[in-house]
Amino acid sequence: MRIGIIGAGMTGLTAAYHLSNQGHEVTIFEHAPFAGGHASTFEVQGGILERGYHHLFTSDTDIQELVASLGLPSLIEWMPSSVGIYAKGAIYKLNSPLDLLKLSPLKFINRLRLGFVLKYLQLQKNWRKYEQVTAARWLRNKLGKQAYEMLWEPLLLGKFGATLYDKVPMSWIWGKLNTRVKSRETGASGELLGYPSGSFAVILDKLLEILDKNQVKIHLSTPVHKIENHNNTMTITLQDTQQQFDKILSTVSNDILLNLVPQLQNHPKYIEKLNSISYLSAVVEILILEKPISDVYWLNIADAKFPFLGVIEHTNLISAENYNGKHIVYITNYVSTDHPIFKMDERKLLETYIPFVKLINPDFNESWIIETFNFKIGRAQPVMGVNYSHNIPEHASPLKNLYVANTAQIYPEDRGTNYAVRMGKYVAEQLMRT
Ligand SMILES: Cc1cc2nc3c(=O)[nH]c(=O)nc-3n(C[C@H](O)[C@H](O)[C@H](O)COP(=O)(O)OP(=O)(O)OC[C@H]3O[C@@H](n4cnc5c(N)ncnc54)[C@H](O)[C@@H]3O)c2cc1C
Repeated sequence: MRIGIIGAGMTGLTAAYHLSNQGHEVTIFEHAPFAGGHASTFEVQGGILERGYHHLFTSDTDIQELVASLGLPSLIEWMPSSVGIYAKGAIYKLNSPLDLLKLSPLKFINRLRLGFVLKYLQLQKNWRKYEQVTAARWLRNKLGKQAYEMLWEPLLLGKFGATLYDKVPMSWIWGKLNTRVKSRETGASGELLGYPSGSFAVILDKLLEILDKNQVKIHLSTPVHKIENHNNTMTITLQDTQQQFDKILSTVSNDILLNLVPQLQNHPKYIEKLNSISYLSAVVEILILEKPISDVYWLNIADAKFPFLGVIEHTNLISAENYNGKHIVYITNYVSTDHPIFKMDERKLLETYIPFVKLINPDFNESWIIETFNFKIGRAQPVMGVNYSHNIPEHASPLKNLYVANTAQIYPEDRGTNYAVRMGKYVAEQLMRT
């Protein structure tokens, strides 16, 4: 079969790997000048780094299987991670139940209550009942006003913004907690997080090498403008040309897909499903520093005054030796494209952020900054509402021979490279079967 794939992210590349291994003739079209999509990388300080911070959980078994099948069985290194929260002017570690008891901004009784509720949630296997209620409502009810308003509300507001924070279902929090917990169970003490030795680029490069051997054609800097089905032959329209395929797999986000496929307008139920989610963009500011900001890898900010959501110190997970001894810190935000943070240029963003970095570490000084990078990553986070399981678009779209696999179909888990790999394999099998 001749198969066209739109998008060279983890989903598209994994699908191409499975399809071409089965002898199909695969062509990939990618808008960006590089492969990897949200998991793409760039060079910095003699090392390679993701545009957006990336790690794996021990429960991410699909990507581990893929990596092993690519001939890289020991690529992923597992390291103890350190998680914390910044609240009421200080950093609190959250690596163990004991840490929770030391969370002094909360009344002791509320710390106990938080501990019990989190443990209870971690023991729950049925996520379906949690998709019927919003996280905001559930957490406020179960944890009480103080813990909700001090910890969870700023986190939800920071992650989803004022218009969406109270729409997100509790199943989203359930999913996050459960992946983390599985990573804890396997860790000797605390949580273990994985990172490919040499970065995610090693996985991407190996995939690209095998795809090349399998004669998969990859066209970078080649946006697809239109997808059509005429008498069951699929036509892709590019800038100046058209190409024909037997089947098409689209891995682009729902809103882009809707623009690419006018014929989907004949299928209002599917359109309704595609339209049932919103997307937030990630604004990622990367600081390359002489010194670390803290000793925490993943620091959530639970302070509504802060103009950012989290501080992820990559080199508190991976040795700074990989980057000439320099320290790499991501300052992150998820916002809509009309948010002032999204519109700020990098100079203004740094001016806005730095006073708050100094609140986290009063010794921090601009002279520590060696260089900075700024990435605005579109459609970084799909946001689903309650009862989304009824609205997930099917992989086999109602337009014959058009298949869809994107981050809006990962549920109840949140988007991630592991699920992109799982979905890429699944949809490739479905496409070959039907
Ligand atoms: C800030 C951030 C942090 C993350 N952290 C983690 C993490 O710690 N661990 C983890 O496992 N995952 C993480 N993820 C998620 C992970 O990166 C994604 O889930 C995964 O890479 C998605 O892969 P994909 O192929 O489905 O989509 P994408 O990577 O979005 O690929 C879709 C591709 O389609 C292309 N495209 C769009 N329009 C067109 C067009 N018209 N024509 C041709 N091509 C087009 C895009 O350029 C893109 O390359 C993170 C993501 C972000 C943004």
